Amino acid sequence: MLGKGATVAKSLLVTRIGELVTNVGPDGCPGFAALPESALVIEDDRVAWTGPASRAPAADTVVDAGGRAVLPGFVDSHAHLVFAGERGGEFAARMAGSPYSAGGIRSTVAATRGASDTVLRGQLRRLAAEMLRQGTTTFECKSGYGLTVADEARSVALAAEVTPEVTYLGAHVVPSEFSGSADAYVSLACGPMLDACAPHSRWVDVFCERGAFSADQARAVLRAGVARGLTPRVHANQLGPGPGVSVAVEMGAASADHCTFLSDADVDALASSSPAVPPGGGREASPGGGGYRGTVATLLPGAEFGTRQPYPDARRLLDAGAVVALATDCNPGSSYTSSMAFCIALAVRDMRMTTAEAVWSATAGGALALRRGDVGWLGPGARADLVMLDAPSHAYLAYRPGVPLIRAVWQSGRRIPRSYVE
Ligand SMILES: [Zn+2]
Repeated sequence: MLGKGATVAKSLLVTRIGELVTNVGPDGCPGFAALPESALVIEDDRVAWTGPASRAPAADTVVDAGGRAVLPGFVDSHAHLVFAGERGGEFAARMAGSPYSAGGIRSTVAATRGASDTVLRGQLRRLAAEMLRQGTTTFECKSGYGLTVADEARSVALAAEVTPEVTYLGAHVVPSEFSGSADAYVSLACGPMLDACAPHSRWVDVFCERGAFSADQARAVLRAGVARGLTPRVHANQLGPGPGVSVAVEMGAASADHCTFLSDADVDALASSSPAVPPGGGREASPGGGGYRGTVATLLPGAEFGTRQPYPDARRLLDAGAVVALATDCNPGSSYTSSMAFCIALAVRDMRMTTAEAVWSATAGGALALRRGDVGWLGPGARADLVMLDAPSHAYLAYRPGVPLIRAVWQSGRRIPRSYVE
């Protein structure tokens, strides 16, 4: 992932931080939290200390933040990066009035099947680098544009080269050669295709939507994935009301993604699946995210922006007590953005999230959606994933939309070289 020339400091003090977003409250309770005039020490790949700049310990190397804000690296828990081709013409047509439907996925499937491994890998690495220089230090990556055993298997194998958060999404859409025999395709996706993909995957996902897969088909895919040791996540309620969210909660999915068209029962199900982030906030630096087992509502406002659909009602979810994450849904059809800052700005401006809620959802919320305890927060023991803004506070991410505010990025304690970031 890292470019050549990345440096590791044995211990590094970042001091004179104007605002340090920690996502660690006073008694360790989770939620947005920030320290003014603070400092942070990194040892190897971990955060070793945070506190007031006036009490900062000595370190081998010192970085003066000059009053700038430092945040946890963004956690993008929903992205489709293994594909070939682009759909700029379809986007232009949509902006001129054509409707969006799930079927457009098939044009990317054709391009992806026809591409060499080299082309797919090059595109994937370009997008991974694009994310990193925009401050995204953890991201999930789905298959779903192959839809044959061989093409799905190479998709997850390629994804595993750039992230441990690999999702098998063989059930993205029924490919045209299975038109009229969706159940036969589901059998393939639950059988030989899953067998080929499970060794490279952590997650199993399904697009539960009219025009894609029904509730029963979604359950079959998720159950098969669980039987192979994968954990479910679900594309749910994006294009209209439907059973996706209830299937996600019923199956213990880590996340229900999109959540654009929700019934009261859907909102209640999401809220009651995670009545509270557990003590410690699921932040223990242990595999599996410290025991967090709720279903996070992951909102993807880039998709609503790119399809001119209504935005999800974030306030309704937050006010009901659901845990909300923000992610890009980066894909060539509905949301070709890799910018978490853009999603934060949309969430604040158009979904009525506060700047604090949006930044929390793009960091700690994403970590919970990936059941990761080591990222999304900054305190002793956390992975040293930091973003320094060219701004004094996190609010600037929405206050100055579209402006490249990422001044520096550290991933696992390594500073991403300036040549890589710029
Ligand atoms: Zn998606």
